[in-house]
Amino acid sequence: MFENLQKKLTGVFKNLSGKGKLSEKNIKDAVREVKLSLLEADVHYKVVKELIDRVKEEAIGSKVLESLTPDQEFIRIVRDDLIELMGGKENNKITISRNPGFIMLTGLQGSGKTSTAAKLANFYKKKGKNPLLVAADTYRPAAIDQLVQLGEDIGIPVFTGDRVNALKIIEESKKYAEKLLHDIVIVDTAGRLHIDEKMMEELENIKKLINPDEILMVVDSMVGQDAVNSAKEFNDKLDLSGFVVSKLDGDSRGGVIISIRYITGKPVKLVGVGEKIDDLEEFYPDRYVGRILGMGDVLSFIEKVEQDIDKKKAEEDAERFMDGKFDLKDFLEQIRQIRKLGPLSSLLEMVPGVPKEQVDVTKGEQELKKFEAIINSMTPKERKNPGILTYSRKQRIAKGSGTTLQDINRLLKSYDQLKKTMKQMKKLKGRKLMNNLPF
Ligand code: GDP
Repeated sequence: MFENLQKKLTGVFKNLSGKGKLSEKNIKDAVREVKLSLLEADVHYKVVKELIDRVKEEAIGSKVLESLTPDQEFIRIVRDDLIELMGGKENNKITISRNPGFIMLTGLQGSGKTSTAAKLANFYKKKGKNPLLVAADTYRPAAIDQLVQLGEDIGIPVFTGDRVNALKIIEESKKYAEKLLHDIVIVDTAGRLHIDEKMMEELENIKKLINPDEILMVVDSMVGQDAVNSAKEFNDKLDLSGFVVSKLDGDSRGGVIISIRYITGKPVKLVGVGEKIDDLEEFYPDRYVGRILGMGDVLSFIEKVEQDIDKKKAEEDAERFMDGKFDLKDFLEQIRQIRKLGPLSSLLEMVPGVPKEQVDVTKGEQELKKFEAIINSMTPKERKNPGILTYSRKQRIAKGSGTTLQDINRLLKSYDQLKKTMKQMKKLKGRKLMNNLPF
């Protein structure tokens, strides 16, 4: 996968290594090489331009992170910008909010639509769902037989109706699914060799009819630029919810998977990585960027350095806290951290020596929420220096956060108390810590 692109990029990065530091001249050369490699890998020119602009700007302004060499720093920047362009680190999950939920699959002929329908149904069956496949690709009779066969192989029913009228088949499948308690209905729709008006019209009508929870287009990653163009056309007409990019296992050059999010604004939700029924994966941009760039070792090293820096920062923050040197922004961050750990009750249960009856937990939770709202309504200056909070400022904040002046005063008191407690704690070296916390 992406072998060519990987090889090219590795070459670019190698050329940078050994250079004393990132200079405008060597960045310019490296950026040019990255640009050519991406264009050759069929990445859309607009995406290449955007990426190059971002990388250039960041690399030139960058202070190389401690313990990274210039080439590693450059790789880090390219990695981050690529992930960003591909939609960030998180996977955009398929979301089904009704029962039965509908997933409508669209795409050109040969893109892998029918196989994806079966793969997706199998994916849900494994999760304990009861999916139904609907064969509504009436233009290619073989597609219906193909889906029926695939359904038989994996033990999932396929609704075929009269095999002629797609809208009628789908309408009937709705009732069928409700009657037989199918919770997810996956509809395979008609594909053509090229986009044509009639097909689009039919797809629009199907969309209107079922108002699907997800409308996904399957795009063949081997097709290159044309695939991205048709993705754009489909999205313009149908307002898709996302994409499935298929055939990433072959010698796909990488262009489609890098370009599609930026060009269409819609996320890639799943990827097809082979012909077998299990060859469907959720898509995480950072994992693919890892594969595109190759260089597993270098990337893990960069991650480790970043983690060390985060750790160092956390330690410095803790030190600052112990000295009572924190503002309301830090205080908010602490509240968020506590809330991230789960409800306060379970947190306190973990602390030995805290008598349960002493802590009114529900009150504590509400208080945290209020505090968060209040701090969010402050200006950065106010958070930094709560001393400037006059009566009128407090009134404004109370209004903005839906709280009262008493709430704000209580927050300020808690904040002062925590500062004091922290200083005491430093002296006590942590003894009796929780008993002194203000909430
Ligand atoms: P449709 O016309 O869009 O319904 O396409 P099909 O589902 O019939 O797929 C066309 C061909 O692509 C079939 O031979 C599939 O086995 C193959 N195919 C689909 N997805 C993948 C994939 O992720 N990897 C590989 N290697 N082949 C795939």
